[in-house]
Amino acid sequence: MNDAHRKLSGRVVIATHNPGKLREMRELLAPYGIEAVSAGDLGLIEPDETGLTFLANAELKARAAAEVSGLPAFADDSGLCVDALDGDPGIYSARWAKEAGDFTAAMAHVHALMQARGAPTPRAHFVSALAIVWPDGHLEQFEGKVFGDIVWPPRGDKGFGYDPFFQPDGHSRTFGEMSSDEKHGIPADGSQALSHRARAFQDLSKACFE
Ligand code: IMP
Repeated sequence: MNDAHRKLSGRVVIATHNPGKLREMRELLAPYGIEAVSAGDLGLIEPDETGLTFLANAELKARAAAEVSGLPAFADDSGLCVDALDGDPGIYSARWAKEAGDFTAAMAHVHALMQARGAPTPRAHFVSALAIVWPDGHLEQFEGKVFGDIVWPPRGDKGFGYDPFFQPDGHSRTFGEMSSDEKHGIPADGSQALSHRARAFQDLSKACFE
């Protein structure tokens, strides 16, 4: 089955300008001997995220970086989908934070909208779509999700973004209270990783590294 996928090796551009995501992606790629250069290091411009899905946005970011750099490019698009808000902020998670001013304000805004809907469900999930595009246009893409509850007030100062606002199912701590290894480490025993990004990455590594 893996034969249908193209293998990745050598030098890769990570098409993100988000330092938190860059750090996580570098940590995920390191064990495979992939040399990761960031889009920022190469001075690449970040394209507008005009897609209507996580997968479409990951693909357009990877495609733009591959075309300009001539290297395989790796991109992700991710966000937090809140059930009580019909999936918002979803693909607009970064935009909502920018408009709110910072993530503390964005979490307060999301929480206020949830309250305005009256005793809403706390259910939510993070999604990560990963895309690799080669300079010849070949595309590989994968999507991972993690389900859990929105907590209020936010707890923890680790991680980034909406991490302190989200407690994954089966855990009594938020992502903001977990070490990076707990959140997105890949278990050595082959069991499922915890974070959306690590889960998508597990599928990608089975397809493109093994
Ligand atoms: P984008 O993928 O660059 O469009 O941004 C996704 C948005 O969702 C950013 O605002 C991130 O901070 C947020 N986000 C994505 N993944 C995570 C995560 O693992 N923890 C917290 N926030 C996240």
